[in-house]
Parts: sequence; structure tokens; C-alpha cells
Amino acid sequence: MPIDATLPYDDENIFAKILRGEIPSKKVYEDEWAYAFHDIAPQAPLHILVIPKGRYVSWDDFSAKASADEIAGFVRAVGTIARDHDLVEPGYRLLGNVGADGGQEVPHLHVHLFGGKPLGRMIS
Ligand code: IMP
Repeated sequence: MPIDATLPYDDENIFAKILRGEIPSKKVYEDEWAYAFHDIAPQAPLHILVIPKGRYVSWDDFSAKASADEIAGFVRAVGTIARDHDLVEPGYRLLGNVGADGGQEVPHLHVHLFGGKPLGRMIS
């Protein structure tokens, strides 16, 4: 069920629980700013979710409220994970769903990282 991205942060959302270690995840990366794990329902041979450690519902409040260090740390983490998985030369896709029309279901900002096969051209 897509979410309303303008709602306040819900500390009981599933990614908040993953960050706190209350439910398991297949971790691929962690640093001061970001945590990354395999998507439970992969849509490509490699499907990783990268989340900031801060309490942000979506790209909207992250881009408006996060510090420059948080934003830089998160963006650098995404790039590091792609390089760590040797995805730069074959290429990969980043996707961020925001709010109801964007189809966002989990109310903690996340970037989908897809790779491992030619993904085709996608603009919608
Ligand atoms: P969204 O539609 O952009 O919000 O995507 C949410 C993603 O989270 C989906 O691709 C789900 O498969 C994934 N997901 C939901 N619960 C879990 C979980 O517990 N572990 C890993 N991935 C999850």
C-alpha cells in the first residue's frame, strides 16, 4: 500500500526495525551514514536497498532537512556499494519511489540499486 510521504516519521516502520536490528536483513554495507541490504523480493539478479541512518520518510524530507554530511554520506555510500559489486562497467540502475504516485510502500527513505543483467531502457 503506497504511503503518504508527508506523514511524520514512524519509528515502527520495517526499515527502522532493520536499522535497530530488531528484524533480520541480509546486510551488504554499513557506515556512519547508510545501511544497505538485499531486497526481500528481488526484481533483478542483484537488488539492494540503501537507506540513510537518519529518520527520513522520503527523498522529500531528506533533501529538505538532512545535513550536508548526511546527504554526502548517503550518496557516497550508494556509489561505494555499486563499485564494491563491480557494477560500474556493466552498469546498474538506481530508483527512488516517493509517496503515493511514486509507489513508495516503506516510509523510510530508500534507494533501490538493481544490477546483474541488462535492464533495458526505463523512463516510466
Ligand atoms: P518501495 O515500494 O520503494 O517502498 O519498496 C520497498 C521495498 O522493500 C520492496 O522492494 C520490498 O520488497 C522491500 N522490502 C519490504 N520488506 C523488506 C524486508 O523486510 N527486507 C528487505 N526488503 C524488504
